[in-house]
Amino acid sequence: MNENFDNLGLIPELLQTIKEIGYTIPTQIQNDAIPLVLQKQDFIGLAKTGSGKTAAFALPMIQRIIQERIKGLVLVPTRELALQVWEETVKFSKRVKINAVVVYGGASMDQQVFKLQQNPDIIIATPGRLLDHMRRRTVNLSQTAIVVLDEADRMFDMGFRDDIYQILSQTRRERQTMLFSATMNDEVIRLAKRYMKSTQKIGEETHIPLDKIKQIYYEVEREFKPHLLLRILQTENPSLAMIFCNRREDTERITEYLNKYGMNAVCLHAGMRQNKRQNVMEDFKQSKVNILVATDVAARGIDIKNVSHIINYDIHENPDNYLHRIGRTARAGETGKAITIIEPAEYRYITEIEYVIKRTMRKGNVDEFGPLLEVRFERHYQQNRSFQRQGQRYGQGGHRPSGHGGQSHGGGRPRFGGNRNRR
Ligand code: ADP
Ligand code: MG
Repeated sequence: MNENFDNLGLIPELLQTIKEIGYTIPTQIQNDAIPLVLQKQDFIGLAKTGSGKTAAFALPMIQRIIQERIKGLVLVPTRELALQVWEETVKFSKRVKINAVVVYGGASMDQQVFKLQQNPDIIIATPGRLLDHMRRRTVNLSQTAIVVLDEADRMFDMGFRDDIYQILSQTRRERQTMLFSATMNDEVIRLAKRYMKSTQKIGEETHIPLDKIKQIYYEVEREFKPHLLLRILQTENPSLAMIFCNRREDTERITEYLNKYGMNAVCLHAGMRQNKRQNVMEDFKQSKVNILVATDVAARGIDIKNVSHIINYDIHENPDNYLHRIGRTARAGETGKAITIIEPAEYRYITEIEYVIKRTMRKGNVDEFGPLLEVRFERHYQQNRSFQRQGQRYGQGGHRPSGHGGQSHGGGRPRFGGNRNRR
């Protein structure tokens, strides 16, 4: 393991920039990957979120591009990641001439077309949007000789497999292909066998420190979930919490509900405007808000340390998804707490998770939170309202659904004990 970046084969311009950015010791994946990239090898890099993968591929990629006058492509699963990787690439390129362009869905096509016309050195893209450009012939990948698939496992989870295959087949035949992933799975191996010269692996698969995460679940009927969540937050008083919902509209409703009762929450889902999403992420990263209510897609790949609590407001049917969610806490040797709320009929998901994590989860006692009130959200909830940032709370003079429906908090019936047949 190198103690600094000096012996990895990087040119002085890049070394100087790294120094200025403040990196002194390369991470394991940087130590292993940088020389391999420079040697034009294909490989699968296994490393968890936060291990410095961006620099591991971007630095040597930049170097190869300027030395050999070739073009590079980085595919990432989400817009947030696309932007993160683009920003880092621009930072690393401070002393060299590199034109990096970022391309993702939900943003103006025209602007991207304009930038793609400048024949950029590196394109950082989400697969769907890049394919759009390919179909419109507003991008040409025939000179692309270095390809990175960042967070490949996530891209497969999100159904980008065919898109990735199509994209790869449009790039140069003699190319270097690198795949980064937190986990090895059949899809990763299949892609590697089909599109890479080598399936050599470096690094290690992600292992979530389950021993450092206190896992607990609560069982309650659906209409008591919002109030239970509120009571959990009031009791736990988390420094930084991520709450996962399965549906976009629930992230909004829950955020509004929590803020109405004094919490400092923001929501994040893939239907929000891009700059809104960025603002929300920034506020959460800087702890200006301490509760982020998100869907899985929006929260994917986001690198935030110090998340103290993961709360699954909805359980997801896929146990891998559970692992991915709770892996956002207990980072960097810290401890964390993962709380899952289920409805009685969802108990089987707990069993599946227990099988995957190879341990039993503790069932929390809902009675500890006192009587819970029924909360029913308005059915035809107004969509498309711009979402608040910190400070501009909902429910304070803002437009609310009319009529009584909204929330019956306060007038609700006392918590209902265990009649599973209702609903
Ligand atoms: P990953 O892609 O593996 O999730 P990132 O590339 O996003 O990780 O890096 C995570 C964070 O670590 C970033 O803030 C990045 O600037 C920082 N970082 C990366 N490499 C180093 C290093 N060698 N020394 C210090 N900080 C680093
Ligand atoms: Mg990354």
